[in-house]
Amino acid sequence: MKKVLITGAAGFLGSHLCDRFIKEGFYVIAMDNLITGDLKNIEHLFPLENFEFQHHDVSKFIHIPGKLDYILHFASPASPIDYLKIPIQTLKVGALGTHNLLGVAKEKNARILVASTSEVYGDPLVHPQTEEYYGNVSPVGPRGVYDEAKRFMESITMAYHRFHGIETRIVRIFNTYGPRMRLNDGRVVPAFMGQALRGEDLTVFGDGKQTRSFCYIDDQVEGIYRLLMSDYSYPVNIGNPHETTIGEFAEEIIKLTGTEQKVIYKPLPTDDPMQRQPDITKAKELLGWEPQVSRSEGLKIVFDYFKSLTPEELQDKEHRDFSK
Ligand code: NAD
Ligand code: UDP
Repeated sequence: MKKVLITGAAGFLGSHLCDRFIKEGFYVIAMDNLITGDLKNIEHLFPLENFEFQHHDVSKFIHIPGKLDYILHFASPASPIDYLKIPIQTLKVGALGTHNLLGVAKEKNARILVASTSEVYGDPLVHPQTEEYYGNVSPVGPRGVYDEAKRFMESITMAYHRFHGIETRIVRIFNTYGPRMRLNDGRVVPAFMGQALRGEDLTVFGDGKQTRSFCYIDDQVEGIYRLLMSDYSYPVNIGNPHETTIGEFAEEIIKLTGTEQKVIYKPLPTDDPMQRQPDITKAKELLGWEPQVSRSEGLKIVFDYFKSLTPEELQDKEHRDFSK
């Protein structure tokens, strides 16, 4: 049985990856320190014999006994609210955590895929973003802790590939949404849906003309799986190119949820990228991948998920206590 280590396994993307690798017949070691994740996302896997959970901070030394075939490094705070609250941990998990996991990959002769992000393009001056674009990132702005950690992650991953000859893959993930997102993580999909369900106005930041392109989780997982199994070591964009302004997106959520609330405007956060759309030519050519789930289909599924939460969960507007 092939063995895979998934870090960030109790989070949104990590938990869906656990499901996929279990379905594919792997032995899954799920690792997480639960700083933004939740065991609820993977507790259904606990009874399985080919699943184990390790509560561990990957920025500290990692020991995995026995053989290991694959590593997927997804541990990192991922929403702007989270990484602004825990900036040092964000830098450490992208830098030290990645270094530790590359060390494990070298020791075990395992193939490693690291989760990078469209944030490496910063506030992009090239549109749509191709993998060849170097980006427009402020290293000293509030988002720098995330963006630069991910850029370092890519550099050290390529260095281990070139210098130590280990098999590496880099996925640049564009905004992805789906069930198991935390309602209070501040990202726009759970933010708008939570507001609609609680009967609050929808908060659009800035004038709402900034754009994003939203990818449904099942499409994202399929792209990541195909990239891992490919033989391509350079970064590949995985995302849905269907772009929308945030203002139009708010209207779409109002229509979908049937809420009678309106849009209100709040200040745009510092360095909030004005436009974002993946060029997915590489993913199409190399992996034969493109998204299958339309935004309206995906949003309906997520809305049903958020509707199924208990009233207490829905009211849980407080952000996590990151002091521990
Ligand atoms: P998430 O917050 O739901 O999951 C992240 C998980 O990592 C959490 O379970 C958290 O507890 C864990 N974690 C954080 N620091 C850790 C540490 N030091 N040791 C062990 N575990 C740690 O976020 P997500 O959306 O699932 O993002 C997962 C990965 O995908 C991240 O690396 C993120 O940068 C990347 N990504 C996500 C998106 C997206 O749209 N969801 C976009 C681009 C990149
Ligand atoms: N956004 C918004 N209202 C909210 C949350 C987010 O208008 O309540 C905007 C945010 O300013 C950004 C976009 O929605 O322009 C996407 O934000 P998110 O935090 O989901 O991810 P980002 O792509 O910025 O990392």
